[in-house]
This record gives sequence, structure tokens and C-alpha cells, in this order.
Amino acid sequence: MAALFFFVVKRAARPIFARMPKYARVMVDDSGGNAFDYALPEAAAAQLQIGCRVRVPVRTRTVLGTIIELSDSTEFEGVKLISQIVSAEPILSPLLIKLGTWIADYYCCPIEAAMRGILPQVIRNAEVGHKTQLFARLLAPLDPEALSALKKKAPIQAGIVEYLASADKAVAIAELAEKCDATHQAVQALVKKGIVASESSKVERDPFQSETFLHAGKLELNVEQTAIFGRVLAAINLQPPAVPKPLLLHGVTGSGKTEIYLQSIEVVLERGQSAIMLVPEIALTPQTVERFKSRFAATQHEVAVLHSHLSEGERHDEWHKIREGRARIVIGARSAVFAPCSNLGLIVVDEEHETTYKQEETPRYHGRDVAVLRARMEGCPILLGSATPSLESYNNAMEGKYELLNLTGRVDDKKMPFIRIIDMRMEAAKKSAILSERLIQAIKVRLEKKEQTILFLNRRGFSTSLICSACGYVCQCPNCSVSLTFHRAQARIVCHICNHTAVAPAKCPECRDPSIRYSGTGTEKVEDVVGKLFPKAIVKRMDADVMTRRESYKETLGAFRTGKIDILVGTQMIAKGLHFPNVTLVGIINADLALHLPDFRAGERTFQLLTQVAGRAGRGDVEGEVFVQSFTPFHPAIQFARHHDFEGFWEEESIHRRQFEYPPFTHMVLVAIRGPHQARAEFSAQTLARRLKETLPTGTTLNDPAPAPLEKSHGNFRFHLMLRTRAILKLSRALSAVLEKLTFPEDVIVTVDVDAYQLL
Ligand code: ADP
Ligand code: ZN
Repeated sequence: MAALFFFVVKRAARPIFARMPKYARVMVDDSGGNAFDYALPEAAAAQLQIGCRVRVPVRTRTVLGTIIELSDSTEFEGVKLISQIVSAEPILSPLLIKLGTWIADYYCCPIEAAMRGILPQVIRNAEVGHKTQLFARLLAPLDPEALSALKKKAPIQAGIVEYLASADKAVAIAELAEKCDATHQAVQALVKKGIVASESSKVERDPFQSETFLHAGKLELNVEQTAIFGRVLAAINLQPPAVPKPLLLHGVTGSGKTEIYLQSIEVVLERGQSAIMLVPEIALTPQTVERFKSRFAATQHEVAVLHSHLSEGERHDEWHKIREGRARIVIGARSAVFAPCSNLGLIVVDEEHETTYKQEETPRYHGRDVAVLRARMEGCPILLGSATPSLESYNNAMEGKYELLNLTGRVDDKKMPFIRIIDMRMEAAKKSAILSERLIQAIKVRLEKKEQTILFLNRRGFSTSLICSACGYVCQCPNCSVSLTFHRAQARIVCHICNHTAVAPAKCPECRDPSIRYSGTGTEKVEDVVGKLFPKAIVKRMDADVMTRRESYKETLGAFRTGKIDILVGTQMIAKGLHFPNVTLVGIINADLALHLPDFRAGERTFQLLTQVAGRAGRGDVEGEVFVQSFTPFHPAIQFARHHDFEGFWEEESIHRRQFEYPPFTHMVLVAIRGPHQARAEFSAQTLARRLKETLPTGTTLNDPAPAPLEKSHGNFRFHLMLRTRAILKLSRALSAVLEKLTFPEDVIVTVDVDAYQLL
């Protein structure tokens, strides 16, 4: 099917017909990518375009679909008529259709699934429409005499008339009800008298409605920033058909990357074009959004914000705002790469190394890589920024495919924080040393000086395992091959994979011995320990357990910023992109957590995380200090992070990656096979591996199927097949072809993850 589709979009996207088109090829939703021909209703033929949504009959039902091609003939006989036009305005541009085709091809997924990734649910289903509200407008103002007469007879009606007169515009009935106790009858009475007109009109659901943004002007760029801005401008001004190379901006934390993004976007807007800025979901903090909204407030440019917490109605309205060109700046997470902007002038991907850009469900695309492709299709520049570039992007720069730009210093010559590594093997002798003596002393000093501290640990809960010291029993999840984490606040044990939960046992469930031991540390315990060590300090925790509402996140950050919290304990939620001038100390409780995972990127992840977390310190006038607690203090990832040495890390790490033919020097594809029946899943994995061995293109490395590091999850046994190649498109197509022909037992699920990041 994908092949057919490819052929379809290669033709001119919007053919000019001498006659009116008679037929449309419609890709039907939820059909695995099937497309069928339909006849156009004669009256509507003129207004239908590629990308329009329609309802079409399929067997006995009518279903939604998208027009992907128009023609004046069809090879099929007796084609049916399109039953309904859902939206005459196209919701997909030919370019986005092309992008979807590429995603299907590259990431081995059905074209229909790719399209599902591109179009928000609320737009596809067309169930939520524009919101309309009833408004009232004054038709004939009353003279003072008539008004006072009305006041006596019908005071509410008079109140409405006065309110409308002073408002001098149409006012929502809801507002009238609130401000002058207006009732429906009162308004209707005025309408009957010809004094007032009522009309319904479109209103926008604005997620930031209740907030005002003060204008913040642009900053004067420093020498380094100016040089880089010049390079971005050159890319923006490049004349077609030349297509600018992607720009990779490597700038340490606090070096003023965001300021460059803002000013570059402003240039693009002045040229009448639009811009997309991608940020990791976690970075869509009020802080980032505020910075954008307040910068562009005075320029009258609307900023559309797309993230996962929008209501369906808000998402609908933001999407249409972009599509109609009313908002020409889009800031959003991964899927904002599909924003329906026209005349795109720039894409920015902030924190381009973040793995949250990879979607972990079908379509498993990487937002940054799709952004690079979209920029190429649009012929516009793309700016990737990070303090710790992904090795994929950095390698592209080394190979000359990207242009590398370096920002080496912090703004205003602020010093990089001083990083001290604490060898926890020394501390381990002391009992339950969660915080080393030196870190405790450093916190004490900060409390005395009224400066703030961040303590980082990327693990939730109180204790990460429960072990019986009598029989060695470990409380494991019944559905997953992980131990259960103890959450003291709820007195429950919880699986962090499938959320299975149970009451924390007082005795060993196996041998009934009461000597059950809690071990391993989570953020909840850190909060507890710190609270006991510093009873007067105000300690707050920020992790997925306490931040269950978007507001609580905002509130805690607000309280921290205004100095109402002394010590903030948290997971990666606090690691990224936050800017608090009064934070002078960052403690990383356990730097080794991610280091020993069976993942070839473990070192890279650790390096990135340490650098990002350390970057939260010393963003104000006082120099920052970072304590990194580790049991493997001489690991290169930790040492290079300590010296703020990205190039050094790259040189060391790239040697191993090249030697073992790992990304970025190859592409890795992870085929995962899972099922509730272990033998069936394993057999399927072996069958698939055998078939692949026979058919895969040369140059592909295929490892034998093996149990996944996380052997069981959600009650499913998991097996992995790892493939590596330099020619990824060839491999993707070969894989699709094999999978199309093979059938697996009903309870076995096979997923393909191209350029996989999640290897557990
Ligand atoms: P990054 O995105 O690299 O972390 P930011 O753009 O957030 O860095 O800049 C860090 C801080 O420095 C911000 O508070 C920002 O307002 C300020 N800043 C950035 N550029 C300048 C400049 N040219 N002059 C003065 N302050 C600046
Ligand atoms: Zn579980």
C-alpha cells in the first residue's frame, strides 16, 4: 500500500484541470492505509482539493477519509459517490502528505498511522467544531428619557442597554449575565423592541486567556551571539533553489541560545513568514511560553502553543489559528513539527538531544529528524540547539552535513558552575549515607546565606526495593520483571512500569518473617532525610507523584522562583531548561543510576543529564557549585561532564561507537516481539529472525533474538531483534515487505522501531 501511495504523491500535487476533476482517491481512516476511488458530487467538484476531509461509503458503513489525489478518470468500475464533505478547506497540505509518506516509508508503518501522527485527533474527527457564543449588540441607543422610563418598568433591560452603550461593541450574553444579571428573556425582550440585536459568533478558546504578557524587548547580543546570529541570517536569506544546511548550535547552558532563537524568529516574521519552535514537552514550562509570549506581545504576532495538556477545544482552535495564518509562531512539543503553517521560514529545535522527541508509539518518528526533513522540503533553515548535542547531530556536523556553530561562554561572562565529584565508596562505610558529609555542609552554607539548593535524583518513591533479610524474597511486580517501589506517603508498593500497586507488606509475603528491609533511595526518601537534617528549611519535592496537576507544577516553580522554597528535591522534571538566579548549589544524589543500564547510550545519557542538571546552578550573580555523588567517579561520562568538555566526550565515545558499529555510525532498528505466552513469543521471534536472515539486504547486521533487558512488562514476555545498517531506507523497505507476508499468533505483537532510543 505504501508503494502505491508513493506513486500517488509523486505526481503534481495540485494538477490543473482543463475540465473539472471527476474522481478522488480517498485514504480511509483506520483502514491500515487503504485508499479507494470515489466519484465527486458534481456540485462540489470545483471546491474540493487534495487534503479535504470527506465521508465515504465503505461496504455497509460510511467512514471518514482524506482526499489524496484528484483525477478525471478512474480505472475502477462502478465507483461510489462521496457521501459528505466534512471540510471543504483542505486540512492537509501536499507537503504534509509527502512528509507522512516519508514517515511511513522510513519508520516502517502504515501510511494511515503516519497521517494519524500528523493530524490531531480533534481535527481528523471533526467532532469538535469552532466554539460559538451568543452576543448582544446595541442597535438603537435610547435617549435619557426613554432610558429612565425603561429603568422603572424593566430595570434589568435598562441595565443591559447601559452596559452595551458603555461597552460600544458586541458583548457575550454570558458576560451580560455576570455583569448586569441579564436573563435570556430580558435580552429577547430588547430584541423584540428593536433596541438590541443578538447574534452568535465564533470565539476562540485560548489556554492563556487569563494571563497578560508584558512586553519584553530584545537584548543586545554579545559578540559570540552576534556572529552566530549572522550565520542564521545568512541561512534565512539564502536564495532558492539553494537549500540551507541545517545549523547545529552547540552552546553551554546559559549561553544565550534562546535569545538567538527569539531574534531569528523575529526576522522570519518580518519577512512575512512563519516559524516553528520545538521544545521537549518537559520544557514547555510557563517560563518558556512566557518568554515567547512577552517578546512577541508588542509585535502583534500571535504565538500558538501546542502541548499535551490542551483541551480538545483549545487544540482545535490553536490548530486553526495556525492554519489560517493568524498565528505565525508555533511553539510546541514533538508533534508541533506537523503544524499546518504555510510559508515556513524557520524551524528551531531546542534541546535537540532530548529523547522525548522520539515518539514511543506508532508512528515512532523522531521529531528532530522529521523537522530536518520538513525544513529541507520547505527549503527553509533549521536551527538545532543544545548544550549537549546528540552524537547523531554532532556526527552530521563533523561530516559536513550540518553547519556547526559554537557558543562557548555564558552570557555576561558568568562562570560555569564548579563541579565536584564525591566518591561515594568512601561514604558508604558510614551508615545510610544518602547525602555525603560535604554535600550536607554545602547545603548548610546555602541556608545561612539564603541561597537556594536543588537536589536531583531520577527515581521516584521512597525505597526502590523491598527485600526479606530472612529468606531473600524481593517484592516483584506480578506483571513485570522489576521490583516494586515503596511509596511511604500512600504506604503502598507500586510498579513503575505498569502501575500495579499493593499495600506494603509488614511481613515477608513468602516466609512471614517480619524482618523485611527497604533499600534503594527515591526522591521521597531524599525529601524525608533532608527535612530531618534541616528541620527549619522549607523543602519541596517535584516529581510525577506530587505534580499530578499542571497547576501544581506551575505553583511549585513559582514558589521556588520567589524564594519561598529553600531546597527543591526532584526528578528530571527539574533538570531541564529552568532558570533560577538564586540557585547556587546543585546536588546530584546518584550519578550512576543511568550509567549501568544495558543501553549503548548509557554514557551519553549520563553525560547529558549531569551537564543539564549542573547547568541549573549559578545562573545569577553568584557562582554556582555542583556536587556529583558517584560510586564510579572516574567513569569518562562523569569526568568529561565535570570539565564541561563535550568535545572530549565525543572523541572518546565515538571511538567505541565506530568500533562496534553503533549509531551514529549506523542506524539501529529494534524489532520487539511480545506476548503473554512466553514460548509463542519466543518462537515468533525466532521465525522472524530466520526469515529476515534470508531476505535482508547486504550490509545489515542482525543479532540473534534475545529476551529484552526488561523481560516482562504488563504481563507480556518480550524479545528483541536488533538490526544495524548504514542504508536505512533499504532496510526499512525490506522489513516492511517481510512483515507484510508473515503472520504471527494472534496474541503476539510485533513492533518495529527505526532509530530506536528505548532499548529496554
Ligand atoms: P540558553 O538558552 O543558552 O540556556 P538563555 O538564552 O536562556 O540561554 O540566556 C540565559 C540568560 O541570559 C537569560 O536570562 C537571558 O535573558 C540572558 N541573556 C541572553 N542573551 C543576553 C544578552 N545578549 N545580554 C544580556 N542578557 C542576555
Ligand atoms: Zn508492573
